[in-house]
Amino acid sequence: MIGTDLNAARHWLEAGNVVGIPTETVYGLAGNALNEESVLTIFRVKNRPAFDPLIVHTDSLDKVRELVRYFPPVAEQLAHTCWPGPLTLLLPKRDHVPDLTTSGLDTVAIRIPNHPLTLALLQSLDFPLAAPSANPFGYISPTTAQHVADQLGDQVPYILDGGPCPVGVESTIIGFDTDGQAMVYRLGGMALEQLEAITGPLRVQMSTSNPHAQNAPQAPGMLTSHYAPRKPLTLLAYGETPSISGTLSAESVGALVFSGTLPGIPAANQLVLAPTGDVLDAARNLFAYLRQLDNLPVTQLYAQLVPDEGLGRAVNDRLRRAAA
Ligand code: AMP
Ligand code: MG
Repeated sequence: MIGTDLNAARHWLEAGNVVGIPTETVYGLAGNALNEESVLTIFRVKNRPAFDPLIVHTDSLDKVRELVRYFPPVAEQLAHTCWPGPLTLLLPKRDHVPDLTTSGLDTVAIRIPNHPLTLALLQSLDFPLAAPSANPFGYISPTTAQHVADQLGDQVPYILDGGPCPVGVESTIIGFDTDGQAMVYRLGGMALEQLEAITGPLRVQMSTSNPHAQNAPQAPGMLTSHYAPRKPLTLLAYGETPSISGTLSAESVGALVFSGTLPGIPAANQLVLAPTGDVLDAARNLFAYLRQLDNLPVTQLYAQLVPDEGLGRAVNDRLRRAAA
């Protein structure tokens, strides 16, 4: 059921169930992060491999401190400047955060999301919420309550409707090495430029091996193939036009484009992410348009990369994974 009843959402969560929740990035599939049964339900409903750890959401720095052993000084600065907001920090976890939630890692991914409904929900709860994106593992992330209902509706008793997600791509993930040096593990809703204004130049390490499982990435939003439509998707550099030949006809092709349409493909088969050329619009529209593209009566999809600046970096990252 979709609704805006905070009490209903709270009751389901307190009973150990999972609930769809809005955030500024994408919709989450939320459950009590400290309750192993709830966490198992999240993994089961998403069909998510157990090696892919969850992000824990709460509403205050005091509550974050109850979950982590310490904050490197840079993390403290980032938390003060960026929360509530689309930034996830990887911090050493306290023992009562279940290993299931962190997939056996001794860090917990944590953030304070910036969405009024979900902040109110979190304030009313005496536990934090583990909430990965509310989509079947590997498919396109949801940015409306209806997207969640379409894919997981029969398995989720309640979906809290907070409108379309204003940022539209998942949070940026930052971790810290033993010297407390910050490193980016996933590009996302907080622009690299904005973060570097706080931290200085940041290293971006998009995947590393997880000490606990083969093939398990350190920040599994980083799995190479992810966010994928069902139909074959080919990337185009900005300015490149697809060569349509052989068995393909122009009518059998759909395209996701940045700010203007491509020649040779029917306009009805093209979705323009950002008509005014603003990468923020591209991020906000990305997942909804990828879904629409996937549902067009076509057999081959194309997506044009966007300018590699600000949230455009996260958009391009998701497009590359969607095409992988
Ligand atoms: P999702 O919301 O589906 O993008 O999933 C949350 C993501 O957070 C995971 O896919 C990982 O990329 C990341 N994550 C969560 N916990 C950790 C951790 N302890 N270390 C590294 N990455 C993490
Ligand atoms: Mg996800």
